[in-house]
Amino acid sequence: MSYHNLHNDIITAIATPSGSSALGIIRLSGDGCVSLVNAIFKGKDITKAFSHTLHYGFIMDEDEMIDEVMISIYEPKKSFTTQESIEITCHGSAYILHRILFLLLKKGARMAEAGEFTQRAFLNGRIDLTQAEAIADLIASETQSQHEMAMKQMRGGVSKEINYLRQELIDFAALLELELDFSEEDVEFANRGKLSQLITDILEKIGNLNQTFKYGNAIKKGIPVVIAGKPNAGKSTLLNVLLNEDRAIVSHIAGTTRDVIEEVIIWDGIPYRLIDTAGLREAGDEIEKIGIEKTYSKINESAILLYIFDTSANQNEDIYNEIKALNSPKTQIILVGNKVEAISEKDKKQWEDSLAEFTNGIANLVFISAKENYQIKELIDTLMEVAKTQIPKQGSTVISNMRHYKALEDTKEILQNVLPKIEFKEPTEIISFDIREALGYLGSISGEIDSEDVLDSVFSRFCIGK
Ligand code: GDP
Repeated sequence: MSYHNLHNDIITAIATPSGSSALGIIRLSGDGCVSLVNAIFKGKDITKAFSHTLHYGFIMDEDEMIDEVMISIYEPKKSFTTQESIEITCHGSAYILHRILFLLLKKGARMAEAGEFTQRAFLNGRIDLTQAEAIADLIASETQSQHEMAMKQMRGGVSKEINYLRQELIDFAALLELELDFSEEDVEFANRGKLSQLITDILEKIGNLNQTFKYGNAIKKGIPVVIAGKPNAGKSTLLNVLLNEDRAIVSHIAGTTRDVIEEVIIWDGIPYRLIDTAGLREAGDEIEKIGIEKTYSKINESAILLYIFDTSANQNEDIYNEIKALNSPKTQIILVGNKVEAISEKDKKQWEDSLAEFTNGIANLVFISAKENYQIKELIDTLMEVAKTQIPKQGSTVISNMRHYKALEDTKEILQNVLPKIEFKEPTEIISFDIREALGYLGSISGEIDSEDVLDSVFSRFCIGK
């Protein structure tokens, strides 16, 4: 039974956002949708029109003229859903759009569910699941980098990479199945050494792909940049300068920024999630303790740490120890010497010397005055430079979708367990079973499975009309 037969009734939805606009679009898909619209259209007989043509006329509710419209026609196989489709472009009034929509429903169309147009495109083989998800990302994209990533996925980048891995494994799975057919004769079609090698290679590729997830996720949500430092170092002032608005509470009393404040800012097409944290110091009371714990966990999640310190305060040794404690291989550190306008060149040089151990490779050092907006541009430039080192090479596939990441992790777990089983010459049934399971996970990424659960969870993220 083909999916097509189950999903060819006429669905309709308003495809443009709510609120008034110059134009609005109502789309329909399914067998007979052109005739359905023809019944309420005054202009010409559009049932005889060719695909990809535009037609001028009026939408009529009996004798009442609802709007002056343009109609676009798509023949089956030539539309997004691959089905007979039609779009009505009318004036973008919510009233007009809804009048036309109700008219279409009255004539027999059904209200489309969330993501149903894209779901049909998927079920009819027009796009795979990663491409369907990329459409949702594309619609949601707000920055150049998000747009690029979604476009790439929409063109099939992720699926191509994964299907390549999958195909190699399928070939071996077939040989293992063959062995099972000949189980009485104790033959070995699938060379175990080669299979182990293949699995090791696949595990490496999965590892590389999943390493890009951190970046892919960062592009979606913003590269996490934590601003941390002792109370009164100037964290809130810096965040405000960076954001150019009075969002965080700037205060003289140590430890007032108790909560974690997050803001997304876009520089050069890349979103950064700036996270201001409670002061790093020994916890004075309970609330502050929670704040400090949050700080450490935020630092662990961050890609870049802006460690800000007050150059005018005399706590050299302390800061030195704190930076040492914060230094983690996953996070890149930028040391921000604040209040530099208040110190002499000699003091500045002293700071440089005492931090040389870190600035020789581990961290960057920038002196600023948050209060006087001095060297802020330099700090942003340094931040962008550091972020660039975390961006995967141009052209490489980036995993940005949590579902894909999890499926790859599941595949990895199974394949890691298969390796010793091959080594200890476990029966073909067991190895074959595991490999099929791994193939199931890999296949679920592009939708080569018929699990309704996965499909439902993907398409319910769409809104009506997509
Ligand atoms: P936080 O506790 O780290 O968030 O520090 P705040 O941003 O609240 O700043 C603490 C104090 O330092 C405030 O009185 C700020 O006005 C002051 N401050 C911040 N940046 C500078 C600066 O560049 N120079 C000077 N002289 N004072 C600053």
